[in-house]
Amino acid sequence: MKIQKSALFSVLMAFFLIAAFSCIFGCKAQKTNEGVNLSSLERAPDIKERLAKYAPTEITFDESLLNEEDRAVLEKLVAAARYMDDIFWKQLDQEGLALKEALEKSTEPWANDYLHFLKINFGPFDLQDENRPFIGSAQRLPGAGFYPPDLTKKEFEDYVAAHAGDKEAFESPCTVIKRKDGQLVAIPYSTEYGEDLEPAAKALREAGEITSNPSLKAYLLQRAEDLLSNNYHKSDILWIDLKDNLVENVIGPFEVYEDNLMGLKASYESFVYINDRQEMEKIKGYLSYLDEMQQNLPVEPKYKGQKVSGLESPLNVVFEVFVAGSAKAGIQTSAFVLPNDEKVREEKGTKKVFLKNVMEAKFNKSLIPLSERVLSAEDAKLVSFFAYFNEVILHEICHALGLNYVTLPDGSRTSVGKALREYNSAIEEAKADIVGLSSVPLLMERGHIPKEKEPEIYTTYLAGMFRSLRFGATEAHGLGTLVQFNYLREKEAFLYDPQTEKFKVNQEKIRQAVRDLAAEFLVIEGKGSYEEAGQFLARYGQMDEITRRAIQKLTDIPVDIEPLFRF
Ligand code: ZN
Repeated sequence: MKIQKSALFSVLMAFFLIAAFSCIFGCKAQKTNEGVNLSSLERAPDIKERLAKYAPTEITFDESLLNEEDRAVLEKLVAAARYMDDIFWKQLDQEGLALKEALEKSTEPWANDYLHFLKINFGPFDLQDENRPFIGSAQRLPGAGFYPPDLTKKEFEDYVAAHAGDKEAFESPCTVIKRKDGQLVAIPYSTEYGEDLEPAAKALREAGEITSNPSLKAYLLQRAEDLLSNNYHKSDILWIDLKDNLVENVIGPFEVYEDNLMGLKASYESFVYINDRQEMEKIKGYLSYLDEMQQNLPVEPKYKGQKVSGLESPLNVVFEVFVAGSAKAGIQTSAFVLPNDEKVREEKGTKKVFLKNVMEAKFNKSLIPLSERVLSAEDAKLVSFFAYFNEVILHEICHALGLNYVTLPDGSRTSVGKALREYNSAIEEAKADIVGLSSVPLLMERGHIPKEKEPEIYTTYLAGMFRSLRFGATEAHGLGTLVQFNYLREKEAFLYDPQTEKFKVNQEKIRQAVRDLAAEFLVIEGKGSYEEAGQFLARYGQMDEITRRAIQKLTDIPVDIEPLFRF
């Protein structure tokens, strides 16, 4: 219940603040003619330590792979991406944007550090500190900038129940909800963010005109149109169909992680990257086992999806060139799977993109030093990039396994995402981790993973959990990890030595425990049971003292990288 509780708390806090100080939103941070009055704001004193959590790291790639045309296309894609930053600031909170402008103008000696950290977090809430403010005292609204600040979940649900005709627009990932003349209205993103989307679309069109690759041209021109029409269906399909292109991007509203009120609204972001063709060949093999992995799931057939391998599921390993918007905030993405539109997924499947240069940078800057601190000396030696890369690939592939659509007890058919609502992200992320891991023995039997690597894989997984848990357990990935960690400790698959205060993998028990946990998630999803999802997260989603202490020992190790781009 952790998600719901913290969301409810924030709503109550916001309500209380509005009631107690009716001017709080009008004069929050005491705006003057110049904007925000910075000196009136509370500031976290440990800003240097907070900044040190992100190791500035240049994101490099082999530029000799690019010809002149590729370079020109890349520049346009980067130009389009930059507008996603602007939109994402607005989506999170207009107040954050006002604060950014004030800090940019400020001549105070301390302003630079706060501005730097504000830019990393895209706002005044520390993503590494469960969204608590590091400047100012306003609490993050669960609905961020997607809904009116005073809107409650109940009011939203009551409204949708009473206005069936508005349901689709209200529940769309691509609308903002506002109050107009006392009535709730849904406004399309294309209208709300038109001033940024127009120039972004223009840059995409220009890139489309430069490229000589027909599939890339078709995709970019369509994407430009879709950014302005608010319907991404056509370009989503063209993106999956990209062929023989070196340069590529994704751009638009994708993930709903920032909407803690309803879990509906998508944040804008962009990834610009070039394909690593050599590496793609090497790991293509995984996809040929997808069907077998589906059949091998440790659940009854009714909880397994029908076809997997029949779907078109390209697999990209890439070098990241640039990111913007949600993708740039806080922790950097190692891999993603898109599109999210379930209709496109059923029709065409998904495409997975692995950002290998980002993964390697993270591994070196945080996972290695971290494992030396929390794992037994023997286990720390087992942590490897081979295993890490392998796990990320399996995680992304395994989002496709299990059921995507379910029939509820009342006979209605819906997506798992809609059935599990705000619990879905945490459950789905954890499912992808654990189902991936539970497929390792099969892949070893097939000779795709060397058998002697099994201990490395489980141990690197355990090390990776601490990396994830440091992010806090409120965000979907973090909560999903905590649930796995607590479950596997309960089953004695992970052991803690109170003498040395270090953890290790119980290689005798881990394989079966992983399989059992995979079954738990697959059944919750397969039933589409909102109640069981909530109960499972509540039972295993609490952080105990031992874990908290272990994480405290990591404070001086960078949590992640802060990407620096050449473009
Ligand atoms: Zn995932």
